[in-house]
Order: sequence, then structure tokens, then C-alpha cells
Amino acid sequence: MQYISTRDKGLKVTFEQAVKRGLAPNKGLFIPENFIKMPADFWANLNGMSLPEIGFQVGKQYVGDEIPENDFRKLCAEVLNFDIPLVNVKENIYSLELFHGPTCAFKDVGARFMARCLGYFSSQKNEKTVILVATSGDTGSAVANGFLNVPGVDVIILYPSGKVSEIQEKQLTTNGNNITALEVNGVFDDCQALVKTAFQNFDTQNKIKLTSANSINIARLIPQSFYYYYAVSQIKRSDSTICVPSGNFGNITGGILAMKSGLPVEHFVAATNANDTVPQYLKTGVYTAKPSVQTISNAMDVGDPSNFERLNEIFGHSSKTFGETISSYSFTDAETRAKMKETYDKYGYILDPHGAVGMLGIEKQLAGSNKPGIFLETAHPCKFLDVVQKSTNVTPELPEALKACLGKKKESIKINNDYKELEQLLKDRYL
Ligand SMILES: *Cc1c(COP(=O)(O)O)cnc(C)c1O
Repeated sequence: MQYISTRDKGLKVTFEQAVKRGLAPNKGLFIPENFIKMPADFWANLNGMSLPEIGFQVGKQYVGDEIPENDFRKLCAEVLNFDIPLVNVKENIYSLELFHGPTCAFKDVGARFMARCLGYFSSQKNEKTVILVATSGDTGSAVANGFLNVPGVDVIILYPSGKVSEIQEKQLTTNGNNITALEVNGVFDDCQALVKTAFQNFDTQNKIKLTSANSINIARLIPQSFYYYYAVSQIKRSDSTICVPSGNFGNITGGILAMKSGLPVEHFVAATNANDTVPQYLKTGVYTAKPSVQTISNAMDVGDPSNFERLNEIFGHSSKTFGETISSYSFTDAETRAKMKETYDKYGYILDPHGAVGMLGIEKQLAGSNKPGIFLETAHPCKFLDVVQKSTNVTPELPEALKACLGKKKESIKINNDYKELEQLLKDRYL
């Protein structure tokens, strides 16, 4: 499989090049040159297939022979070493629980897959890769954990001191080994600016490769299609509608890739919070990026979703074609809280605020129908403890993965919001 850029159809690169570059030239995004088509025997065997096997079968269509089959099978087994169960919440509505990974959010899947692909390519060339990542919380922990103990790769996380939750800070600072947390005396934007300056100015003298683990990387997108096959294999129906709580629209793009490969799904719904750029686009046919507004489902506070560019390409730049496959609705925080409360009171199921937006979306789409609906539950409710407690009066139990890191000692290096300090640290370590 080759990859093309959304902004330059003439450019074709290998999977390895697309993963290493992250962003295509002209700030385009890499997309597969063609949609994959899964073969008949895959569909015949899908029911009962394990998640790692699905990852292997689907992933190898994208990776081709760039990673040998045995290595790739092992890679998929390491990435997908936790379950993604489909849980019946009520009547015909199911929750696909994507939060059973090490950092309890769906970004684990993409971050772990990307980490191991990059680790594989580095080890083949005996290169040392250093990932610099600025985080406001969740992405950093998924990336850090994804790269933990991956040979040939170091991760340096920059996070704003005092601006992340206690659980998030523990997740960022207790990994050890090849992960270093820099606690920056500043805000998230300062962390991001420091990383950007390092990419522009730090001369690695070719000793190391400095790279980012940006969410638009194709190696984070591809594995986000795996669990859609797994969901359909569990529901054993070909007429389900799937609702994805969406921010940057990467998760739903994974679903669309799965559908284009032949996955039997009737329709998709992209549910958003008050950041309603895409619902407005489908209503008016005009895409207007907006500044983001803060909500209780804050991982979706995005006013200009980065993967819109990929979806727009997939749907031929037509809002009509887009809308034939994806409906999109926006929900308020009040609706989200009420849905969390109702779902706990009536069905004993604790939603996180993102999953609640997903449930609102699937119920709106399927109102009056008894066909099956699946929403993606993208984070464990305990990651949003405050909102969950206030909305439902219940305290969700901490999963083992989070309990374990809460007990560990925080280790961070404090730096000022000063590029010279970051540069010195990189020089001391790598030159
Ligand atoms: C990132 C994130 C989302 C949004 O996913 P996109 O791929 O950006 O649409 C939803 N829920 C949670 C918990 C997230 O961390």
C-alpha cells in the first residue's frame, strides 16, 4: 500500500515514510492510496476472531511487506493485549468499551500501534528516535505508555505544571525507563511552543531523529479501524448504526475506513458537544472552522477538526455524500449530564461525559427504530471523576491500571518556559 497526501495527489510514499513524517508536505495529511478490501475468507471467519487477529489481518493490508508477517503478528498481539467488549446498556443500544487499555482511553490503541511501528522501523536501521510531545493531559499519557520500553525510542513529555489533574500527572510521571516527564513552568501553549522551537532549531547532527507523535499520524489512524470489525463480530448483525463521540474526527475516520473495506454497517453518527463545526457543515454545506469552546467532554473541544480534511477527501468534497454516510448532531453539557444520570439511574451503567454524548447521538438517530445501535465509550468514567460524581452521585471504581500508577512516586524534571533549558537537556542527553 502506498500513501498519498490530501494536498498533493502526485506524492506517493511508503507506510514507513508516512509514519516517520507524520505530516505530508504543504501540511497535507497522508491517506491510503486506495481503500483496502478485506477478502471473503476474512468475512467468513470474522465472528469469533480475536481482536489481535483482526488487527493482524486488517493491518497487514495497510503495512504490506514493510513489516514481516511474523513481526507484525507479534506487534498486533502486544498492541491489542486488552479487551474491547461490547456491552448491552438497554434494549437495542450497546456500548463499545474502548477504555480497558493501560491509560483507560481509546487513544491507547492508536498510540501503542504507532509506537511499535516506529520502534520496528528504528530498530531495523539501528537509529535512535526521540519523541517530543506536548500534552494538556490525556494524549501524553497514551503516547508515553504506548512507547514504554519500546527499544530504540525515547519519549520526552512536556506538560504544564499544576494544570493537569492528579491522575493525569501520575500517568505522565510514573512510567520511568525510556519516558521522561518535563514539568514546565507555564501553560499548555508554552509546552507546545517549546516543542515546535526544538523541531525547528535543534541540530541533532544526525545522531538522533527528533520526531512527534501527532494525532494525525497515519499509524494512529489505521488501528482505530480494528475495533469496528470487532464490534460487528460481537453484535453479529449487519444492520447496526455506530455513533462516535467526535472531536478531531480521527476515531470516526477509522470507522469509515472499515466500512469502505466491506464492513457491514448501516450508518454512522458523529456526536459532538457544543463544538458543532461538522453538524453545521452538514446542515449548511459550508465548512466554517470556529474557535473551540470549553465543555465537560473536553477531549472533544475542537473547533477545526484535523481529520475533516481526510473525510472531505474520502467523500469527494461533497457535503451531500458525507451526509449519506455520516449524520452529525451536537449536544449541550446539560443534555450530557442528564444522559449520564438517566443511564445510571435506569440501567446501572456509568457513562463518562464523552460516552454520554455518544449515547445521545445513537438514541437520536435510532429514535423509533429497533435496529441495533452501538456507541463508542471512549474513556473510563473515573478519568472524569468530578463530572461523573456530580451527575450520577456515584463514584466509579478505579481500574487496576490507574490504581497502580497512583501508588507510584512522581518523577519529573522541572524546567522554566525557556527554550535554552530544553535545548541544554537534549544536548546533554543525546549529543
Ligand atoms: C480524543 C478523544 C475523543 C475524540 O476523538 P477524535 O478522534 O478526536 O474524534 C473522544 N473521547 C475521548 C475520551 C478522547 O480522548
